[in-house]
Amino acid sequence: IEQTAYQNDKLAMLGKISASIAHEIRNPLTAIRGFIQLLRPHLLQIGKDEYAKIIMMEIDRGNDIISEFLNSSKPTSPQTSVIDVSSLLKDVVLLTESEALMNGCQITMQDRELPLYISVDAKQIKQVILNIIKNAMDAIADLGHNHPGMIQIHTEQDHKNVQIHISDNGKGMDNNTLSRLFDPFFTTKESGTGLGLSVSYRIIKNHGGYIYVDSVLGKGTDFMITLPHN
Ligand code: ADP
Repeated sequence: IEQTAYQNDKLAMLGKISASIAHEIRNPLTAIRGFIQLLRPHLLQIGKDEYAKIIMMEIDRGNDIISEFLNSSKPTSPQTSVIDVSSLLKDVVLLTESEALMNGCQITMQDRELPLYISVDAKQIKQVILNIIKNAMDAIADLGHNHPGMIQIHTEQDHKNVQIHISDNGKGMDNNTLSRLFDPFFTTKESGTGLGLSVSYRIIKNHGGYIYVDSVLGKGTDFMITLPHN
């Protein structure tokens, strides 16, 4: 799926604006959160504690959006290093495994005999993999607790690129979602930011790679990331 130049411009612009105003928005949010907490006992007394909960949840959501903005708009002088794809993937799997298991979801990763080296900003690429795995877990969770969730990761290579495949047997996507999932702010989740994949897309593009998506509603989704290897 191609991202248009217009979307890239929009992202770059949002990045600049956000960097300059994010801190200014955060301060009042923090103040509001603090005062709501002070009011909480009173709200509890009149049986309206849920108001406080909603206000704090929404403030936290605002803060999440700002954090993701700041992450994506930092002046990116990428910290490039040479790293084996499998060890990078393993790091991320370790981070997510326990959460996955708690949701009844198993992550499997195919072992490689030989290392496969790429020159990347490992932190950024890990963030991308993490975004995709978290989305996979959400898509699986939406099918309920009895659904045996599977996330499978494997890598391949051709003469130019490493391909990282991440597939899930979650709820899949309809055509509308498929055509918009890389748009900034596009989300189908109640508390989503819609930024994970647009930021991921940009990171992979900056590394000279690409993200492909294949999805069947009700069946699952395959993500494929390509990155030039050494
Ligand atoms: P967010 O996760 O905050 O919604 P993203 O940019 O990461 O933002 O994802 C955008 C949307 O793409 C999600 O809301 C979801 O509808 C869809 N999506 C992404 N990955 C998957 C997946 N593996 N299975 C089903 N839908 C997905």
